[in-house]
Parts: sequence; structure tokens; C-alpha cells
Amino acid sequence: MSRIAYVNGRYLPAREACVNVEDRGYQFADGVYEVCEVRNGRLIDAPRHLARLERSLRELRITQPMTLTALQFVMQETVRRNRVDQGLVYLQVTRGVARRDHPFPLQPIAPSVVVTSRNVNPAKAQENASKGIAVITTPENRWPRVDIKSVSLLPNVLAKQAAREAGAYEAWYVDGQGKVTEGSSSNAWIITRDGRVITRHTDNFILSGITRAVLKHVLEALQLRLEERAFTPTEAYEAAEAFVTSAGQLVMPVVKIDGREIGDGKPGSVAKRLREEFHRFAHIS
Ligand code: PLP
Repeated sequence: MSRIAYVNGRYLPAREACVNVEDRGYQFADGVYEVCEVRNGRLIDAPRHLARLERSLRELRITQPMTLTALQFVMQETVRRNRVDQGLVYLQVTRGVARRDHPFPLQPIAPSVVVTSRNVNPAKAQENASKGIAVITTPENRWPRVDIKSVSLLPNVLAKQAAREAGAYEAWYVDGQGKVTEGSSSNAWIITRDGRVITRHTDNFILSGITRAVLKHVLEALQLRLEERAFTPTEAYEAAEAFVTSAGQLVMPVVKIDGREIGDGKPGSVAKRLREEFHRFAHIS
């Protein structure tokens, strides 16, 4: 079955789905995006993702292309047309097409919207989760507005590549104060030996993850103690457990950081439990 992409009002076979070479997303990475999990053909936490998209657009003064309800409809329709059962849906909005020049175009332009969706192999994801992943740390080198989910991801691409070349799956950024901010495509968490769950507080220096937000409700229900504060790599090396969260990975246990085993070197029981419980607290539409 050929894949279908939504591009500016039309559902097109992927090979015919094109954007203009003067799209500011292509020229300047002048755009934002969201990635939402698809489970049993349904969208997970779509209203939260769309609320964050609305905020990202507002922060960058990009016109919202349509109502959030209409955007959600397009996401659902793209999932349906691609017959995605377990997978992801990707939504991107850029400022639009204009002759290449850095400032915003003087005349109002229509934002560009692209939506794609694909299946992922749930068995493979489960296999990763049952083994756990390795993480490396890397110096923070992103701009101080990573709370905006911008398509400008070059530092994230390079960090992820560095992780792969080191035999790891994710890279955790460490800021100038020696504290972990987040992963290149996930939020970072540790659990101390006395059972405190720690993840960095939200501000301009991390993306306020939707999975992170939902997980806070899971922690509350399980009566686990949460500390939202920055932690150091050394605290992480000494932690009982570590994990990352994202819409694509859910709760993914971390078993190695910078080559050091975390806990007993196997996925921790709390991380496993959080992964199992997650969807009970997520919004399904
Ligand atoms: N931090 C970064 C840099 C990300 O790219 C992502 C997800 O792509 C996250 C955190 C996790 O966000 P979410 O849980 O909304 O997927």
C-alpha cells in the first residue's frame, strides 16, 4: 500500500507529496511540529499535543493554519488513510512560502501544513524496553528556547548521531552548570536509591514533554515522590533507575549512561511499571 501524506489541503500519494523549494521551513527551519502516538488506530493525547503546537506557533508568530479541531481531524484522517494501527503521526506547520529573505514576509502568507503517519513495530519497541537503552552525555549546544517545538533540530541530529556512533540510543545534554537538561528527542529521568523520581523542571531549556506531563499523573496515582529539579550526570550514574520519555518511546528504561551500568544494569521495576500503566492515564481520541 502506498503511503499517503496530507499537504496543504490534499491527501496525496507520498511520492507526489511535495513542498515548494521556497518554503521557509525548508529554507530557514522556520516551522514547528508535533509527533503523536497512534495506538489501536487512535490518537494518544492529541489535545495536549495540539495545545503545545498552538503555543509554539504563537511564540514564533506563525499563523495558525486552521482550528485545533480541524488539525486533529486531518491527523485522524491521515492515520486512517495510511491504515496505521500502532505507530506515529507527524504534523508540521511552517510559516509558508516566500522569496528567500530572513525577515518575516511583509505580505501575509499562508502557513504550510504537512501530516504523515506510519506504523511502527510494537514488538521491536517492546524488545527495546525489555533490554533498556544506553545513553551518552553531551554538552548542551542548543538555543535557549527549546521549549518551542521547532523543526530546527540540527544539534539534536548531531547528538543522536554521536550516541549511535558510541553504541548508545540517546544523548542527554549537560548544560553549563553541569546539569542534565534533556535528551535529544526525549525527557530525562532518574530514580534515586531511596525512591525519589527526579526530572528537570520545565522552563526555556527543555521541551515540556506531553509524556512527561501525563507521567506526573501516573506517579501521583502510584504515590511515588516526584522532584522536579535539575540533576547531574554523577547523580544519574548513582541512581537506582533511569529512563526517558517521549511520545514515540513512552517510558523507555535506561540501563547505561556513559558506559556505566545503572542499578543492576537491567531495566528497573519502577520504570517497567510506569510504562505498563501509562496508557491508563493518557487521553485517547
Ligand atoms: N525533548 C525533546 C528534545 C523532544 O524532541 C521530545 C520529543 O520529541 C521530548 C522531549 C518528549 O516530548 P513528548 O513527550 O511530548 O514526545
